[in-house]
Amino acid sequence: MMLLLLNLKLIFVATTIQSIMSGITTFTMIKPDAFEAGNSGLILQKIIDNGFKIKALKLTKMHQEDAEAFYAVHKDRPFFNSLVEFMISGPVIAAILEKENAVDDYRKLIGATNPADAAEGTIRKLYASSIQNNAVHGSDCDENAGIEGNFFFSHFDRH
Ligand code: GDP
Repeated sequence: MMLLLLNLKLIFVATTIQSIMSGITTFTMIKPDAFEAGNSGLILQKIIDNGFKIKALKLTKMHQEDAEAFYAVHKDRPFFNSLVEFMISGPVIAAILEKENAVDDYRKLIGATNPADAAEGTIRKLYASSIQNNAVHGSDCDENAGIEGNFFFSHFDRH
């Protein structure tokens, strides 16, 4: 009986810790269009002004196989090859961001995939030029935020 109670207590503590921990991290990339246009500084400032802490940051350029792996979920979509070409056309700035409710709040900050549908004041409304060249990436769920952050950064890169 004591053992069962202890087990239940441990499960409760673990679940509570997990629920507190979940949702504080997201991953973003400033895409080649926004980098090339010189908008990286303005976008990073907007991210910081909206309460996100930068936990990892790098300027890098993806190879074709990186972009294909990063967007593997879209490999059967008609725009896949064009998307990969775009993503390897120039440098990107990758970052891990931290804030409560990070994934949802960041998706709100960047706006809809198509800038034509993005709300006023969002990053994509301000800086995107098309549904493909849409200035920034933002993870769509906690699990992908973890996977995408690990895709670009080792634990030595996080502060
Ligand atoms: P996101 O989560 O808002 O980035 O959107 P998705 O996961 O649906 O798509 C990933 C990326 O593919 C988008 O950010 C765009 O760069 C690109 N993309 C999405 N839809 C289209 C499309 O219809 N045509 C083209 N050319 N690119 C698209």
